[in-house]
Amino acid sequence: MIRIIDEVEIESKRVLVRVDFNCPMENGAVLDDSRIRAALPTIRHALKRRAKVVVMSHLGRPDGKRVPELSLEPVGIELAKLLDTDVVLADDCVGDGARKVVADLYGGRIALLENLRFHPGESSNDEHFSRELAAMADVYVNDAFGTLHRAHASVVGVPQLLRERCAGLLVKREVDALSALLGDVKKPYVVILGGSKVEYKIRTIHSLLGRADALLIGGAMANTFLAARGTSMGKSLLERESFLLARSVLADAARRSIPVILPQDLVVATSPDSTERRIVPVTSVPPDMMALDIGPATIAAFGEHIDRAATIFWNGPMGLFEKPPFHEGTVKVAEMAGTSMGFKVVGGGDSVEAVRMHCLNCRFDHLSTGGGASLKFLEGKELAGLTALEAPR
Ligand code: ADP
Ligand code: MG
Repeated sequence: MIRIIDEVEIESKRVLVRVDFNCPMENGAVLDDSRIRAALPTIRHALKRRAKVVVMSHLGRPDGKRVPELSLEPVGIELAKLLDTDVVLADDCVGDGARKVVADLYGGRIALLENLRFHPGESSNDEHFSRELAAMADVYVNDAFGTLHRAHASVVGVPQLLRERCAGLLVKREVDALSALLGDVKKPYVVILGGSKVEYKIRTIHSLLGRADALLIGGAMANTFLAARGTSMGKSLLERESFLLARSVLADAARRSIPVILPQDLVVATSPDSTERRIVPVTSVPPDMMALDIGPATIAAFGEHIDRAATIFWNGPMGLFEKPPFHEGTVKVAEMAGTSMGFKVVGGGDSVEAVRMHCLNCRFDHLSTGGGASLKFLEGKELAGLTALEAPR
């Protein structure tokens, strides 16, 4: 059984909260604060209960070394603005400085530890490093859904050392929404997949096939499936190493009589920077061009399935949505899925960003903050960070 923060007595206690403040940064400033906002309900709850709130996170990949550009200081500044309160910044996550910051903290006040990944012990789940972090806490809270699949010190090592451990409100919301997709889903259940990382996502596709009534594939993911089937894809982005996997997904779907809808037409251009686009049938991608979006006939075909769906899970954009001439497929799919009457969930960093960019977020039942973690959860796999929160016997 996993307890939730609002079921735990935390007043005046040192509450160590693992959050995911791995925000996109630009020139030393936070470019997108949605990850900070996602953790606010838990932080506000702990502050209101007058806990001594100590927040920890990773940022980027400093590979176990102190990299000044990856300091959490700018994130702390944003957090202070959003909370409208002072946030004490520790210049490290362990050691004398961090211990003093925590020891000096009053109930109802908050401190942010420096980037966990400045220490190699974070990613290697080093026991000594975990002990140093755990020594600064009475209660451990995990509210970093996006990191739950990683067996790192702050996710797995620390909670195992503290009897008082629980999930934050964001983790609860994520688990509730994604569990609904693993239970008795309302049918038809339509899964929309796109984006690029085929190999990384393919295992999830196999397990999704066991539940879905239709699989719609777009984006660079579709390029790999089309090429694996023998279609010439010109210079399109695709993963040759995944051809066998893609064929096995198609064979599996055929065996189970689950329709897999691949693009009928594509938007092609000579390069991702090109402003000129052309719509071609899927069998006519010129050798010197690349597919960067799904075409109108494909959007319409996807729409027929989306309109009938009672449940939708969407992961991965339909094209190079960051570049305006190639965003249409993704936006149309977001609009169609968003207006569906069914239960609809989007997961994946880029897909969620696409939905947010076009202000369609409020139309979905849930936007998952964790791409990798949400896919692993939907595979029915155990998440190391969730297991570590189970109550001690
Ligand atoms: P998510 O983060 O939603 O899981 P991915 O990380 O798998 O999605 O993939 C998103 C990236 O894939 C985006 O940067 C997008 O531009 C890119 N992409 C999608 N389709 C194409 C395509 N046809 N050609 C090139 N890039 C693509
Ligand atoms: Mg991504």
